[in-house]
Amino acid sequence: MELDEALGLIAEVPDFPEPGVLFRDLSPLFADAGAFKAVTDALAGTLDPSVEALAGVEARGFLLAAAVGYARGLGVVLIRKPGKLPAVAGRVDYALEYGTATVELPAGVVRPGQRIAVLDDVLATGGTVAATGKLLEDAGAVVDSVSVVLELAALGGRGVLGDRKIHALRTC
Ligand code: IMP
Repeated sequence: MELDEALGLIAEVPDFPEPGVLFRDLSPLFADAGAFKAVTDALAGTLDPSVEALAGVEARGFLLAAAVGYARGLGVVLIRKPGKLPAVAGRVDYALEYGTATVELPAGVVRPGQRIAVLDDVLATGGTVAATGKLLEDAGAVVDSVSVVLELAALGGRGVLGDRKIHALRTC
């Protein structure tokens, strides 16, 4: 399947999870074998050869990072929601488009100087990726780049992320 067709499977859901929010639902894309492969291949193609590991943001970022990691022969650092990890290297609280959130990094999985690319499904306000980048850099890693399926430009995530290298398969 062509990438455009795959991205066309993303559904728009008005007023979810709150009134006034237009939620992009990637479930149909993940459920379609051809679309999932097209998106995995396209994300894999955004990575610089110097990247040594991927960081996937719970939960849909796990799916993408796992698939791309397998395709590129890279391991996956799990960026988790709070309370799931027995040992934590760091924790960052941040504001979301709707509500607040926290991300945690497992202890002992990142080494100083390791070049990591962050993967997630949607870049909205940029809070999640900014928090993930801080978490990784506090642990001594180098954030090479950020790759997402969809960037919601109106929410200004790119501005929040300063000079980070950002790859979005589609911007709307
Ligand atoms: P941000 O922190 O505001 O950039 O929001 C990004 C995070 O929230 C990502 O982990 C996304 O999974 C999730 N998110 C925000 N908006 C949407 C959406 O419209 N569809 C799916 N996920 C979203």
